[in-house]
Amino acid sequence: MSAALTRAVFLDRDGVINHKAPEGEYIRTWTEIHFIPGAMEAVAFLNRAGYRIFVVTNQRGIATQKVRIEDLLDIHDRIQREFALRGANISQIYYCPHDVSERCSCRKPRSGMLRRAARDHRLDLQTSWMVGDSLTDVKAGEDAGCRSVLLAPRPPQVIPPSYAPLIAESLESAVPLILNLCDLDPRVVRAQSFELSRSCLREES
Ligand SMILES: [Mg+2]
Ligand SMILES: [Zn+2]
Repeated sequence: MSAALTRAVFLDRDGVINHKAPEGEYIRTWTEIHFIPGAMEAVAFLNRAGYRIFVVTNQRGIATQKVRIEDLLDIHDRIQREFALRGANISQIYYCPHDVSERCSCRKPRSGMLRRAARDHRLDLQTSWMVGDSLTDVKAGEDAGCRSVLLAPRPPQVIPPSYAPLIAESLESAVPLILNLCDLDPRVVRAQSFELSRSCLREES
């Protein structure tokens, strides 16, 4: 029997597990990390459902020297430890340290980090998900062959027609979508998922 491939949920970092820095600013140190309520519980829930969790984050601040690499690694180490204390296992945090002009293969919307994780951890990208709060996350996920959830406070007006993300308000409210607990018709889910995810959450609470 060949070893079965594992399902994963890839998470963007800022705006998914912790609050974003103000526009134009960077999160530089651990003290600036403020977790979004429900994120740890969501990861623990996905773990129990058989998903491994990976964070994939663009960290251009390394290239522009706004963020020090040792601080970034410290932040990521502490995120993993804080989550683990709550029974939420993040297998690995991948980051892209490059600037836009470097045209690397890892900076989202490219899918290099997801593909590397898939090689490193024998993941099945076809049954995996990407969750992010920007369309570059969605594009990276879909380019890797994953399904995707876009986190948005309200349904975005314009989603490029080639993308088909589900939409949820938060990582916590994305969980029932990923686990297909909402009895979704994939043909209509794109239009309705926002309301569906809200109603699923209401049912659970
Ligand atoms: Mg983000
Ligand atoms: Zn890169």
